[in-house]
Amino acid sequence: MKITPIIGLEVHVELKTKSKMFCSCSAEHFHVDPNTHTCPTCLGLPGALPVPNKTACEWCIKLGLALGCTPNESSFFERKNYFYPDLAKGYQLTQYEKPFVINGKIKIGDQEVRINRAHMEEDTGKSVHIKDNGQELTLIDYNRCGVPLVEIVSEPDITSAQMAKDYLLKMQQIIRYLGISDADIEKGSMRCEPTVNLKIEDNDQVFYTPLVEIKNVASLTGVQTAIDFEIHRQTEAFKQTGEVKSKTNKNTFGWDADKNQTFLQREKEGSSDYRYFPEPDIPHIEFTKEEIEEIRKTIPELPDGKITRYKKDFSLNDYDANLLTSDIDFSKAYELALGQNPDSTFAKFTANLFIGAIKTHLNESQENLNIDKINSIFFKNLFDAVSKSEISSTVAKQVTIESYQTGKDPVEIAKSKGLIQVSDSAEIEKLAIGVISQNSKAVEDYKKNPASIGFLIGKLMQASKGSANPQLAKEILEKLLK
Ligand SMILES: [Zn+2]
Repeated sequence: MKITPIIGLEVHVELKTKSKMFCSCSAEHFHVDPNTHTCPTCLGLPGALPVPNKTACEWCIKLGLALGCTPNESSFFERKNYFYPDLAKGYQLTQYEKPFVINGKIKIGDQEVRINRAHMEEDTGKSVHIKDNGQELTLIDYNRCGVPLVEIVSEPDITSAQMAKDYLLKMQQIIRYLGISDADIEKGSMRCEPTVNLKIEDNDQVFYTPLVEIKNVASLTGVQTAIDFEIHRQTEAFKQTGEVKSKTNKNTFGWDADKNQTFLQREKEGSSDYRYFPEPDIPHIEFTKEEIEEIRKTIPELPDGKITRYKKDFSLNDYDANLLTSDIDFSKAYELALGQNPDSTFAKFTANLFIGAIKTHLNESQENLNIDKINSIFFKNLFDAVSKSEISSTVAKQVTIESYQTGKDPVEIAKSKGLIQVSDSAEIEKLAIGVISQNSKAVEDYKKNPASIGFLIGKLMQASKGSANPQLAKEILEKLLK
């Protein structure tokens, strides 16, 4: 029996526009007093009229273009009818028949996942469950109601939980490059619903297990665990019941992060259940070819293109190129540090400092990168000093962080701290003689085992307060101990 998982992902991304999708209320809803960003339109009061947010529509198209999608010549909004307490209107405005963009793709390693569509819709409010005097209450906050949401639907080309994770990370990276959303999965500005079923091949027969959509997965690890759980559950269910997929329906399962398992929420639900119909209060929306090209121009160089360019122009390896481009601001800062027409030795040197010093510092301090603190001349000075062996690469990392924090020239910092490497043989020889006379035991050890010279080098480095050129120190010690 051969089992192949068939996984598709629906990703919802909250756009960070100033106002909501169909009204002028602020779209900000984190750390805001409940129900303060609302109006008759987003509360769904009778007679209120929706006016689409132009920026949100353009950003949806921008994302689509970045994913290689084709814009539809004309799109329109439709009402998706269902009841939920945090959906005040009793329907959600979305795009069903004519989404803004269709048929794109995303590259995951050497595989490709096709994008079926990306469409524009509005977010719902939030239900808040509380306990008051022992009584369980549900409160509703409509601040999020009507916040612009783009839904990106993939084709079921994903074959493992790991690939699903890679897809989400790549999607998140592209969205952040475009600057249209924080795409923060933990905060809920990027949400994901995997659909999973299995292709089972058994003695020339092929079966497909019932399609399951998994809701409420709120973390990247959750997505992976939920998919793996569902693959296992469906395999076992098929072995026991032999149930196969029906033509149009899918079952909806929830994800219980505490129990690490999925559970059935709704059975056999199809799109007809939502009675989609065109929103009568919003005309069709058409973008001209010129307008689409204007939007295309706002797309920055994307990660894949950057990686290729870094490898080609700066002779960086895959690992470095990937790390430097993981975040658009980080790569901008790196390019700023390189200045005009850098040669590949300088590019590699600077890459090491960005990865080994600046990134590590930012991770440890949880600070955001401040591009204003990057000075190309400082990196050039440091490079020259290291090339002339005046500064060791260890010291270079240390002063890079200090230079980033203080805005001072790293070479000046090294000088003021006495960290300029001593490459003066006479000076080092003086220190070496002292070290040898004070460590007779270690000298004896060295005569028996030359590999133990590290100890004496260490002592010498200590005596020089880290400023001796270690290679020279080693050579001089060996010469004196002959
Ligand atoms: Zn409103």
